[in-house]
Amino acid sequence: MGTEDPNRAYIPSRPAPSPFAATQSIRPNLLTRPMAGPDASVFRPTPPPQQTSTPFSSSGPVGSGPAIRPNMHPALLTTTPFSSAGPVSGSETHEFRPSYSARSIAPSTNVLPPPSGPPTSGPFQRFPSPQFPSTTQVPPPQTSPAVQPFFSPPTRPHISTGPTVPPPQTINTMPSCMNIPNSAVDSSIFAPRPNLQSSFSQRGPSNFARGTMQSAYQAYPGKQPPVVTQPPPVKSAAFVSHQENYHASPPPGPTPYLSPQSVYGAPPVAPSTGPFSREQMRPTGSGPPLGPAQGLIEDFSSLTVGSVPGSFDSGIDPKALPRPLDGDVKPKSFADMYPMNSDSRYIRLTTSAIPNSQSLVSRWHLPLGAVVCPLAEAPVGEEVPVVNFASMGIIRCRRCRTYVNPYVTFTDSGRKWKCNICALLNDVPPEYYAPLDATGRRNDLDQRPELSKGSVEFVAPPEYMVRPPMPTLYFFLIDVSVSAVRSGMIQVVAETIKSCLDRLPGSSRTQIGFITYDSTIHFYNIKSSLTQPQMMVVSDLDDMFVPLPDDLLVNLSESRSVVEALVDSLPSMFQDNVNVESAFGPALKAAFMIMSQLGGKLLVFQNTLPSLGVGRLRLRGDDIRVYGTDKEHTSRIPEDPFYKQMAADFTKYQISANVYAFSDKYNDVASLGILAKYTGGQLYYYPSFQSAIQKEKLRHELARDLTRETAWEAVMRIRCGKGVRFTSYHGNFMLRSTDLLALPAVDCDKAYAMQLSLEDTLLTTQTVYFQVALLYTSSNGERRIRVHTMAAPVVAELGEMYRQADTGAIVSLLSRLAIEKSLSYKLEEARNSILLRLVKALREYRNLYAVQHRVGNRMIYPESLKFLPLYALAIFKSTPLRGGYGDVQLDERCAAGYTIMALPVNKLLKLLYPTLVRIDEHLVKALQKTDEFKNICKALPLTAESLDSRGLYLFDDGFRFVIWFGKMLSPNIAMNLLGDDFTTDYSRVSLSERDNEMSRKLMHLLQTFRECDPSYYQLCHLVRQGEQPREGFFMLANLVEDQVGGMNGYVDWIQQIHRQIQQNA
Ligand SMILES: [Zn+2]
Repeated sequence: MGTEDPNRAYIPSRPAPSPFAATQSIRPNLLTRPMAGPDASVFRPTPPPQQTSTPFSSSGPVGSGPAIRPNMHPALLTTTPFSSAGPVSGSETHEFRPSYSARSIAPSTNVLPPPSGPPTSGPFQRFPSPQFPSTTQVPPPQTSPAVQPFFSPPTRPHISTGPTVPPPQTINTMPSCMNIPNSAVDSSIFAPRPNLQSSFSQRGPSNFARGTMQSAYQAYPGKQPPVVTQPPPVKSAAFVSHQENYHASPPPGPTPYLSPQSVYGAPPVAPSTGPFSREQMRPTGSGPPLGPAQGLIEDFSSLTVGSVPGSFDSGIDPKALPRPLDGDVKPKSFADMYPMNSDSRYIRLTTSAIPNSQSLVSRWHLPLGAVVCPLAEAPVGEEVPVVNFASMGIIRCRRCRTYVNPYVTFTDSGRKWKCNICALLNDVPPEYYAPLDATGRRNDLDQRPELSKGSVEFVAPPEYMVRPPMPTLYFFLIDVSVSAVRSGMIQVVAETIKSCLDRLPGSSRTQIGFITYDSTIHFYNIKSSLTQPQMMVVSDLDDMFVPLPDDLLVNLSESRSVVEALVDSLPSMFQDNVNVESAFGPALKAAFMIMSQLGGKLLVFQNTLPSLGVGRLRLRGDDIRVYGTDKEHTSRIPEDPFYKQMAADFTKYQISANVYAFSDKYNDVASLGILAKYTGGQLYYYPSFQSAIQKEKLRHELARDLTRETAWEAVMRIRCGKGVRFTSYHGNFMLRSTDLLALPAVDCDKAYAMQLSLEDTLLTTQTVYFQVALLYTSSNGERRIRVHTMAAPVVAELGEMYRQADTGAIVSLLSRLAIEKSLSYKLEEARNSILLRLVKALREYRNLYAVQHRVGNRMIYPESLKFLPLYALAIFKSTPLRGGYGDVQLDERCAAGYTIMALPVNKLLKLLYPTLVRIDEHLVKALQKTDEFKNICKALPLTAESLDSRGLYLFDDGFRFVIWFGKMLSPNIAMNLLGDDFTTDYSRVSLSERDNEMSRKLMHLLQTFRECDPSYYQLCHLVRQGEQPREGFFMLANLVEDQVGGMNGYVDWIQQIHRQIQQNA
């Protein structure tokens, strides 16, 4: 409906009622007027048109128009009493849109008026919930005394506006719902940002924090220090638009990923496709053949490249090429050098040898930076220790706010400590004093994890919060249009939610709520006093409001039975729904209004292209005329700024959005994913979802999303020593100031990458320290600060930088940078930027040893980077960057891009170079334990040459399994695994456990592989050799070492790199 309404106002143009509008009223309502019970009576909503409604029946909402939908009165659709208001101002102008209906799932339910207790202050003001008799569409207000005074046209209650979100330019009015302390209290987290203070001064809760803080600061005179490691304060504070990473009013070509600076300066060099160079061919192994490569011999390898004169033989022995068959290899020597460093699962540097000069940086060519996974899962026994300083307060440097860590040094008989980041001498509080031994070490080191371990978690005292720690909160926004119904998605989602209710983090504090939507928005009253949930339908999409703000978000343990009743009935409620529309944008706004008091996790299940109301999207990407042009990239970025703005608002109110996209057609993942991108969320993509096939995958991944340990209302900052600075950040977050990442939610499956640059021309220190601090609320309601500290040596030698290089971290940053680049440039340019860096780096390395290795047919590379060329090739062939514009479906490409931008290093490496193992021999062998079995499985090179037609192979990229059946595989094996289906079309066969040893072993094996990394569920695809196009799609196209679809194979790739290294050498 909304689309046809000529009066439908575009939200941004309607200042007053829109959360996005630029009203003069900057502060959210909750700040200016904390609403408690009686105050709500200032609102005088118009009595809603009344309409006898049909009690909810099993047919659910049917049809998309008023004629079909009995519970939507035509008047509601056509007469919107106050909808035509132009820009208006003042609180009086808030529109009330009473066009909603109530449908009770249990027609006989007697609905009680809402509790009269004082509601907590919130961004939207409350009006007493009217009764919703099950048979009437709209509550007659007069039935409730509390309601009576409110309705008096034409004033409009604030409720229709929801939280008045400040427009971007006023963002420094940070809402009190952000559990972030004032800057003074935690300049650690808020570095020097004086304007934040003023923004806080208007609010109660922050005043509290301020007071606390000031007193906490009395001992520290230098509280606005010249912080050596931090950039100057950013004027625009909180969330702002002027920052490099986020544009509130996106300029032409807004990119969802950040590409704040031109990472690749020079225009990319197109890969040459000319004939191979015909140099002397002499296949040799690796190793330094000539001259003394002092101190570098063990780190150094070379490959002979070049063909025999007169032949087209590449001269490369494919078997001699390095392959990461053991998966992720973390640099060991570095960990040995600094045993007190944080484990590499939390933080990895692209090179652990920090260059001491700009000139060295410029010769490095590869990304210089770090990949941080602050909440990475630790093996049992290696959990991060928790430290509680209690009343003493957390020990931090009073100048740069670094947290006490193993690298601080104690002097003056233990009465002072020296900050390892800024070198300031701090006093040791009397309670923290311990004498030093003869070597200057405190004698209580054993009892002080913060002084001996690189990773600790501090319990944060009250000054680290401006409101009580939020409860865990899960809000579900579920598409119930016809395609969602038919795919079976609703059923799987509802079942999974129900099965996870006991495992949601947060125990008795957990909050939960639901909205469903098609062409209208359906709210659910699930307050604990009900026996059945109650549905209310809002059909006016143009001016979204929340009908019953108090009871749509409830405490799970109190409302448990109502919640269960709702998820139980959701699938059947909509089973006959034939509505094809999707009012996703308005539904999103409604969810925002409900959640914005507390924040939390929003889970979106979207099955169609949003078609109604604000945020509706159009089919794009089918215009072949843009292929290969400068416009090509625009289809990979959002077209409508609505989603980005929504994401900004979400983040501001501590809401993290996880988007599950299911469509069998174009879903505009580029736009939907932005919600996850800027809110610290995650995008899940299930193309052409059918529950019969993909049920297990969705069930597993949703269950993990719901039950994994999550850090709430978090911010993260990474500090570093004098002379170096992090200049750009890449991943899913909102940058709040130049170096503060806002993360409404974080979990173990998210990693963040950042680039480092030198501020000084020359570093004079021997060591650079890094410290990651994540301030968050734990699921059990405790405010915590997780701190990871690491040291790295400063070096003057390029060779040392190479020696300490970490391929995994480099690949992670290279991938993210290339994906970001693909949002502004052609795919080819994004790919070539990687090749260019790789060539430059290897050329530089070669030049280091030009004297020793002057033979032209030898490609020289550091041992630490021996897998880098292959990973670079894999990035070329990865879904986000592969081929041309039309080679990968647009949604699939965008989804993979969003996924990689958040992926931890080890998972990325596995995705780029998956595991291929032969399994038939093991299945037929005598009984053996699967654990041993897995160790026996030897990973094979990813080339078709690894595949024997008599064999059975498993391919695992962490996201899916492919089981490849060779043509000559023993029919016995196939029969055992597939039963009688073994001769039929494998696309119709699904693998299940059969009653024989071989089948059980296979299923056990798959389970073992899945347990290795539970972050995604590998759905199993069966492929028979020669069965096209499935074999090509599932298997052959993913063998990255082979030449596929015009992309080089490994040998040719090395040849190409070598040739380019030699050019201009
Ligand atoms: Zn310091």
